[in-house]
Amino acid sequence: MAYKKTEQYDEQTTSSLTETYKRALGLLGEDPSREGLEKTPERMAKAMQFLTQGYTLDAEAILNSAKFHEPISEMIIVKDIEVYSMCEHHMLPFFGKAHVAYIPNGWITGLSKIARIVDVYARRLQVQERLTTEILDAIKNALQPLGVAVVIEASHLCMMMRGVQKQNSVTTTSAFWGEFERNETRSEFIRLIGSTLH
Ligand SMILES: [Zn+2]
Repeated sequence: MAYKKTEQYDEQTTSSLTETYKRALGLLGEDPSREGLEKTPERMAKAMQFLTQGYTLDAEAILNSAKFHEPISEMIIVKDIEVYSMCEHHMLPFFGKAHVAYIPNGWITGLSKIARIVDVYARRLQVQERLTTEILDAIKNALQPLGVAVVIEASHLCMMMRGVQKQNSVTTTSAFWGEFERNETRSEFIRLIGSTLH
């Protein structure tokens, strides 16, 4: 086997979290020692470390790792990037799509890097509004482009499963900077991503 992907978890963190989740399962009225739940606290410990791995990643460093000089100043759009994050109020998932655009000013980055930095910020405890502006700021700082636009459309399980139980509501957040603050450029971007956003 030439390719092997390995996952690494911090041992100390994993064992402390495992103990904590075992206790939590008991407090919720479950029997953490029954067969089906035997490995659950450890799985939760690993899943949560995976879902919050963004804290150890540096979005600007990722963008800079594939930064190329290119004399173009046309709008570059990466749309329909899958987003999976967790709300910081309930630690329940919210998920949807991000559409990201920028207008280069001499520098471009790899298209896959744009998708990766969405994950860098999504894999933390978040609010959708902050996620949107953090993605924008990273691109703005690393590439110093003429403009950046980020739109995120997401469904929040904390609204769907509990609280107001609105199953079909989608929250849209957006952030625009530079050229995208001009109506004309922003409209062009909105048209190209096919969003219902106005
Ligand atoms: Zn929430």
